Amino acid sequence: MRLVLLGAPGAGKGTQAVLLKDRHNLAHISTGDIFRHNLKNNTALGLEAKKYMDAGQLVPDEIVMKMVGEKLAEFKPDEGFMLDGFPRTVAQAEFLEGLTKLDGVILFKVADEAIVKRLTSRAVCKNCGNVTNINEHSVCPSCGGELYRRDDDNEETVRNRLRVYHEQTEALVEFYRKRDILLEIDATGMPEEVFARVIETLES
Ligand code: AMP
Repeated sequence: MRLVLLGAPGAGKGTQAVLLKDRHNLAHISTGDIFRHNLKNNTALGLEAKKYMDAGQLVPDEIVMKMVGEKLAEFKPDEGFMLDGFPRTVAQAEFLEGLTKLDGVILFKVADEAIVKRLTSRAVCKNCGNVTNINEHSVCPSCGGELYRRDDDNEETVRNRLRVYHEQTEALVEFYRKRDILLEIDATGMPEEVFARVIETLES
């Protein structure tokens, strides 16, 4: 199965991807994670992407499409994956159509103000990548690892990222609805509740 996880930043795509990965044995491809990994290793790609990420802007299409093209080339035709954070523009979606056939696009729907609240209190475990709430935990509740805040989770950058989502990414909802592969999920509530809705929609 080949899926796209679509939704505003903070809608819970990454959290749901971790849950779905085990259930359906799908690879999780997060373009944001690939950029952060490159940044950590000081690669030219990471340093280039940082300029845009810090401002809450999109990395230019050519850079992202080249990176995703190379990544997807590693997959055999029968291997499944979930794309998390890609595509984010119509040009990226058209590019992806030329690369592979999708089985579904899951749209995670959450109101903007709930997202601002979520992201400005989000913490990520340095050790296992678990996402949690900084107001509720001082260490990772899953493995006891150290928690950190993402640089782009401050309120100003979060609001920019939301604006960019509405201006450049939201058009993909109509793009995929027209292709009749859009699955819409209410993404409010606890991750387990959202996951139950995902499973019900995906497997029905
Ligand atoms: P994410 O972890 O998905 O929230 O992505 C973090 C940041 O990486 C975004 O705010 C963008 O700057 C950049 N990014 C990730 N995926 C893409 C993409 N498909 N197109 C452009 N920029 C991206």
